[in-house]
Amino acid sequence: MFDTVSLYKCTSYDYDIVYEALDGALSDIDGLSFVKPGMTVGLKTNLVAAMAPEKAGTTHPILLKALCQKLLARGAKVVIGDSPGGIYTSAFVKNIYKGCGLTGMVEELSNASIKLNDDFSVKEATFNGKSLKNFFYTGWLDNVDAIINVSKLKSHAMMGMSCAVKNMFGTVPGATKPEYHMRFSEEMAFANVMVDLNEYFKPVLYVVDAIDGMEGNGPTAGEKRHIGAILASKKPYALDMVCADIINMGISDCQTLKAAYERKLGPKTVSEVTVVGNTSPDLLRVHDFKRATSHQSITFEGGGFLNTVKSVLVKAVYITKPILNESECIGCKKCYEACPAKAITMAKLSAGSKDQRKAQLIPKIDRKKCIKCFCCQEFCPKGAMKVYENPMAKLVHKIYRGR
Ligand code: SF4
Ligand code: SF4
Repeated sequence: MFDTVSLYKCTSYDYDIVYEALDGALSDIDGLSFVKPGMTVGLKTNLVAAMAPEKAGTTHPILLKALCQKLLARGAKVVIGDSPGGIYTSAFVKNIYKGCGLTGMVEELSNASIKLNDDFSVKEATFNGKSLKNFFYTGWLDNVDAIINVSKLKSHAMMGMSCAVKNMFGTVPGATKPEYHMRFSEEMAFANVMVDLNEYFKPVLYVVDAIDGMEGNGPTAGEKRHIGAILASKKPYALDMVCADIINMGISDCQTLKAAYERKLGPKTVSEVTVVGNTSPDLLRVHDFKRATSHQSITFEGGGFLNTVKSVLVKAVYITKPILNESECIGCKKCYEACPAKAITMAKLSAGSKDQRKAQLIPKIDRKKCIKCFCCQEFCPKGAMKVYENPMAKLVHKIYRGR
């Protein structure tokens, strides 16, 4: 068995309901036993963009409030932080705190022992990871005695799922993230960056906000999907396996799970995880959870000529790429700025376009330069950048996955 995951039903963001579910989830795994009076605990949240909590793209402030109260009750000080994509400066990140409802939450708590991170220093580390050897990270993490990773359950175009393991990418300063996308453009290499970050920082506890998750064009432009759960564990890979199972995914759908399994750090299936709590993955499963992409989800194990041919055919069918819906684009250039491969230029609408905004500049993608990191899709504030999938992919999925 691979560790224990605590799973509690949580039907809404009503504070009392959240507090009760969180209390149960943490009690079942003795999750806060590490806390000593006077210590500083860092909450590594998911604040991917300045999105209102009800959009379901970021860790909800009500869950963070409940966790803060529990930590305060044990005499801890709390620092809340993250480094979203973009520049890692006080002005930029404070705007994100505000947009995500954290500034208001901390003001409401009005307790000198709780603050939003205001240290925007950058440090360098050396680590003998599978992908990472030298890397830059956000310095505030050096000033806390322990880290709790508080993530959001979402679909993700490149990794399949964004949850506990992927959330650690926010320890990398926003402005340096494109460099990591370039250096580790192959999916498994990038997934191993996430595993390396978890192994380097070793958060003592992981909590997942899966009350409302995000499906479809995630991790920022998808739709809210009610899942109804809070999960907690001391191990990220077991935790992500249970989360994947709830949204009807498995190891072949999620590259970070695959990377952890190959490194003997995580389970292969959910049956290897001990799930405790007041409900079960079977009772909560969202069978029709919409994925951002389905290209990772069919693999043929065992080698051999037939499986090789099948894999080549499936790869050909599963061509995914970012594609623009011109009518939704406002020409803000955020995709252009986020593109690590410099594959995007801003250009006028094509002469034959039916769009009336003739002066509008829109992104054009150089397909030869594109490394398919989907940063443009992730950082588009309007959801105008979509994930294109070959229509044949849906047919193949129906055959192999029954959906
Ligand atoms: S165009 Fe989009 S997917 Fe392609 S490299 Fe640039 S950001 Fe990544
Ligand atoms: S695709 Fe999105 S990010 Fe890019 S210019 Fe249009 S609205 Fe902005």
